[in-house]
Amino acid sequence: MIQAGVVAVQGDVSEHAAAIRRAGESHSISVEIVEIRQSGVVPDCDVLLLPGGESTAISRLLDREGIDAEIQAHVEAGKPVLATCAGLIVAARDAKDDRVETLDIIDVTVDRNAFGRQIDSFEAPLDVDGLDEPFPAVFIRAPVIDAAGEDATVLAQWEDNPVAVQDGAVVATAFHPELTPDSRIHDLAFFANQNNNVDTAVSID
Ligand code: GLN
Repeated sequence: MIQAGVVAVQGDVSEHAAAIRRAGESHSISVEIVEIRQSGVVPDCDVLLLPGGESTAISRLLDREGIDAEIQAHVEAGKPVLATCAGLIVAARDAKDDRVETLDIIDVTVDRNAFGRQIDSFEAPLDVDGLDEPFPAVFIRAPVIDAAGEDATVLAQWEDNPVAVQDGAVVATAFHPELTPDSRIHDLAFFANQNNNVDTAVSID
């Protein structure tokens, strides 16, 4: 049994919870989901999910409640994080927007709403390192990763821009992996990533 924390300010909490449970099931690991709205919850979590939404609102909550420092400590302990869309913006080194206090847990800079200026949302089959078949990626007013630093590995690109990256135990996507029944990104981030400290080799149910 592992405990998965989902930051629950806004954004697809139940869809992410379902995807984490499905990914866990494929490894015979049961998952308890806890919603994060205040400090004191993150330290008990084995894995963390930062969903989409509005990065300004998410970053305000994390800052106001002191959850930001807890997430940084979680990452320093080598425990996994999956950050999606606005979550990626909040996780980035720099979002080039004073309204977003970033966590600096993944070595990228992002450009908010960069795809959104051209097109609001779209779905694309995406080749992702570590997955055998393309992933059906849904982009909604998505950020562009405009620079990936030397600590970040690019896992997927769309039109020459990185849209999925990994930095140690942190995986981040510009798209929304929770919006299709395909839970391979959650699996990659939490159960298959060899760079994290979650011991999933032995599961006791
Ligand atoms: N455009 C949003 C932001 O900048 C992110 C959109 C999303 O999470 N779908 O925060």
